[in-house]
Amino acid sequence: MLIFAPMTQPLYSLRMHSSLAGHHLSGAESLVSSAELDTATNNLIQRALQHPRGAAEQIHLTVELVNPETLERGALPALRTLTVASVAEGRSLARQLLEQAGVAPQVAAGAMQELIRGAAPGGQSMRGAMLVDRRTGERLEADCSRGVRVSHLGIDPELELQLGRQLEGLGLNNPHVREALVLAGKVTMHPAVLAELCWSDDPDYTAGYVCSRAFGYLRIPLLKPAGETRGGRAFFLKPGSDLAELVSWLETRPVLFERIGELHQAMNGRDYAALLDA
Ligand code: AMP
Repeated sequence: MLIFAPMTQPLYSLRMHSSLAGHHLSGAESLVSSAELDTATNNLIQRALQHPRGAAEQIHLTVELVNPETLERGALPALRTLTVASVAEGRSLARQLLEQAGVAPQVAAGAMQELIRGAAPGGQSMRGAMLVDRRTGERLEADCSRGVRVSHLGIDPELELQLGRQLEGLGLNNPHVREALVLAGKVTMHPAVLAELCWSDDPDYTAGYVCSRAFGYLRIPLLKPAGETRGGRAFFLKPGSDLAELVSWLETRPVLFERIGELHQAMNGRDYAALLDA
C-alpha cells in the first residue's frame, strides 16, 4: 500500500513485520508522506491481521524519516505476462529466462530447488531474499533465515494511480503486482544484480516473475501449485560484487519511482522463449 500527499511533505519509510506462533507471517515496506502515515500504518496493521495464513500475534512497525538528499529516483521495469499451461512449464520457462539473463544453468536450477523446498533452514520460507552468485551458485546472504529484506522503496502517488489504471486494462491491478513491480524495480536498478526470481508465499497466489534490466519484469502466472505456502526470492549477483555495499543499498537507500515502464499484452511463454532463442 503506497499513499502519498504532495511530495513537498517529508517522506517516511514505513516497515511492518508480523509473526504468528513464533514464525514470520508477513512484512511490507513503503515510502509515505507525513500526512498519510496514519492511514498507511492502519492499512499495514489490517494486512497483518487479515493474512491468508492467519491473524498476526505480533506486529512490529518502524517509521523513519527519509533524508531527501539520499533519495534516488527511478523508472519501473517494463512488464509482460507470459502464459503457461502448468507449474512445470512455468518453472522451466523461468529457468530459461534466468539463463538468458546470464545465470549459469545449474545455478538457476539449484536456486529454483531451494525455493521449492523452502530456502530457510528446516524447509521454511525465508523472510527476505537469498543472494546467489550467478556463476557458482554460492549463497551469499549472511543469515539464511532472514536473507536480505529490501526496504525504503515507493512510487509517486500520481504515478501509482496511473499505474493502477494501466494494469486494470491488463487485469493485473492488484497489490501483489504493484508492490512486486516496485520491489523488482529497485533490486534490478543495482548494477551488481543480474536478475531476480520470485514467487509468493501466499497460498492463494500462484504467480511469480523473473526480472532483469535486460528484459524487464516477466510475470509467469503459474510458478507454484495453489495452496503451497513456501515462496521466496533469489537475487543473482555478478561474481565479485561488494556485498556490504549492495545489502546496505537494498535495505536502506530510499528509491522513489517516478516513471512507468511499458506494459505489454500477455504473450504465450513458448513463443516468447522462441524469440529469445532466435
Ligand atoms: P511475497 O511476494 O510478499 O509473497 O513474498 C514472497 C517471498 O519473497 C517471501 O517469502 C520472502 O522470502 C521474500 N520477500 C518478501 N518481501 C521481501 C522484501 N521486501 N525483500 C526481500 N525479500 C522479500
